Amino acid sequence: MSGNRRSTWLLAAAALLSGGLLLAPVAVAAPVADPVLGLPFATGQQTYSAGVHSDNGQSGVKNAIDFSPSDGIARSAAAGTVRMQSCSGGDWVTVDHSDGWRTGYYHLEDIQVQDGQEVAAGTPLGRTGNALPCGGSSSGAHVHFTLWQLNAAPSTAADWSGLSYEEVSTRVAAEVGVPVDGKVFGAWRIRAGAQQYSGRAERVSDGFSVTLPGRFRV
Ligand SMILES: [Zn+2]
Repeated sequence: MSGNRRSTWLLAAAALLSGGLLLAPVAVAAPVADPVLGLPFATGQQTYSAGVHSDNGQSGVKNAIDFSPSDGIARSAAAGTVRMQSCSGGDWVTVDHSDGWRTGYYHLEDIQVQDGQEVAAGTPLGRTGNALPCGGSSSGAHVHFTLWQLNAAPSTAADWSGLSYEEVSTRVAAEVGVPVDGKVFGAWRIRAGAQQYSGRAERVSDGFSVTLPGRFRV
């Protein structure tokens, strides 16, 4: 194949791949690798999960999943730095990990960490509860566990203190919330369902699947 014919072929292939339009090259940021995260509680016990949902449980990116582990202790899903978010009704815990990843832990009572504290994977953060420091609702003690990628929108302030739960779960979630669908937490891959508060937990090792809401041993 001559150089010209090769060039023509490549252009044709590019045209096909781009839906018939020849697009100018654009700079594409390298995709951020999935975070290495555990579940936000200790293994070796049963947990109930109310399933995958959006942060406000109604609309938007489904970046949240609820867990009620038997021992009632929420733990950091990975090593990182505690960023406490404070409202007039109290505090809630976020932990910042490498590469811009942040995990959130809402509804905790008896919070055991402080802002700026370095934590390891599995460090106890507090007791699963029904706390509503910035608003929202809760029925039954659990941790509302959320996933965020702060690098996705560098202009979004990382300090969410004083923001209502409504604002975090709508504006902030739209900017930096990350779907938990397909993400792996410890030995389990989480799948979102079509509805709010649904989905599955799939054990990575053998594909064993638990329909959510549901109770399972981790
Ligand atoms: Zn929730």
